[in-house]
Amino acid sequence: MDLEDLLKDLSYYSIYHLGRSKFDQVYLENLLLDEFNLSCPSNKEINVKEIKELKTPDKFIDELKNIGISETKITKIFALLTPSPSQVIDTFNNYRKIDSTLALDYLYNLQIKNNYIKKSFLEKNIHWINKMKDNEIEITINLSKPEKNNSDIIKNLLKKEENKYPQCSLCIENMGYRGDDKIPPRQNLRILPLSLNNEEWFLQFSPYGYFQEHAIIINKVHKPMRITKSTFFCLCDFVDQFDSYFIGSNCDLPIVGGSILSHEHYQGGKYTMPLMKAKDRYIFKTNNKIKVSYLDWFNSCVKVESKDKKILCEALEKIKEAWYSYQNDQLDIIPFSNGQRHNGITPIIRKENKTYIAYIILRNNYCNKEFPEGIFHAHKEYHNIKHEGIGLIEAMGYFILPGRLKNECEEIEKLLENKEIDLPKYYLSHKEMKIHHNLINKLINNYGLGLKKEFTHQLLIDEINSTCVNILKNTAVFKNDERGNKEAIKFIESIKL
Ligand SMILES: [Zn+2]
Repeated sequence: MDLEDLLKDLSYYSIYHLGRSKFDQVYLENLLLDEFNLSCPSNKEINVKEIKELKTPDKFIDELKNIGISETKITKIFALLTPSPSQVIDTFNNYRKIDSTLALDYLYNLQIKNNYIKKSFLEKNIHWINKMKDNEIEITINLSKPEKNNSDIIKNLLKKEENKYPQCSLCIENMGYRGDDKIPPRQNLRILPLSLNNEEWFLQFSPYGYFQEHAIIINKVHKPMRITKSTFFCLCDFVDQFDSYFIGSNCDLPIVGGSILSHEHYQGGKYTMPLMKAKDRYIFKTNNKIKVSYLDWFNSCVKVESKDKKILCEALEKIKEAWYSYQNDQLDIIPFSNGQRHNGITPIIRKENKTYIAYIILRNNYCNKEFPEGIFHAHKEYHNIKHEGIGLIEAMGYFILPGRLKNECEEIEKLLENKEIDLPKYYLSHKEMKIHHNLINKLINNYGLGLKKEFTHQLLIDEINSTCVNILKNTAVFKNDERGNKEAIKFIESIKL
């Protein structure tokens, strides 16, 4: 298709899918022509029916790429076609008057239709559920998310780039930004301003879409992550406004926090995380005002339920304060060293039938000689699968594994199908596979070589399943054994909630 024809179709697409008025069509077509230094529009007939039926803009993206248009330019085209940020906010608020879920659906779908969220690409991510006797966890191999390591995250937190614009990839200045070597173009990003606990925040969707309607809720000010009493009120305020979403904050410490600690933000979405399906292991208190329990989960999580926001937030603050100073040398829980705090929490809140349900996952980032990267971080033997910090989403049992694993697992499967293999020679030509050395040895020792394809594939799935469960157990400050449970109960009882 000629570029002029495509631009005509795109200007019609914006009316049916991006909420532009039909009076904008000629104007938009002219703007697009100018982007490419073209003076005359196409006179082809528009196939309105076909355009109306499109579920994603993929057809256009493919055609634009076929005629050599760059990704950056494609983003610019969709930015021009999308209503302005203020128009999007107005439409959102109009929907919101009817129903907040409808309003969120509008923004989410707009971001798919304007190519900000690349839905078909996300659908290529691999996903499965590992069902166990009492619990389940979900595992995804995310083909688009870049893999980060903890030392880079700490470096980024400490690094101050005075003249950097935007200061980080979460700052509001990304909206409309053309992108650079570190930050992708964000001209088609649209956001929603929010007021949380009398502070200015905004919501945007994650382009990496780990799960359904994966939203990021960002402080308008670029300031470091810090969990305070106000955090709990902000999280409650959010679920008051959008009760179909959960919301949570990463811990405000490196190793056990998220990948961006330099800019305060939360994550949420329309999704029931595996942790939320877990049952209570112990119930400490239950009356008509508050319920406090300890969850039957892989890591250490206190669950608090209340209809009263103030009672809930007071309880969460008490748990946080008690945990920040909790010390148990036998369990390697060291709260402070060299003036640094090591105890932290990952709080998550959702709302069900007007009751706030809060989950406080207890975290600690202390390192010792045996575990120089963190006692309660994924242990070294699992780093071939995942070495990044176990953030909020994963601590809830939803794993986001790096895209490289897709090829690497296929490679291991192929290797196990061989009748014989010279491993040292194999690693010379497959250097990236060296990190899986222990896993490969273990599989060969246990099952031998010359295996059938269906069998090898299941072997790898089983291996990833058990690794993810073990990583979650690594992050548990109180292990699920007699001593761990006894100490956990003692700690929660001491808070006097
Ligand atoms: Zn920022």
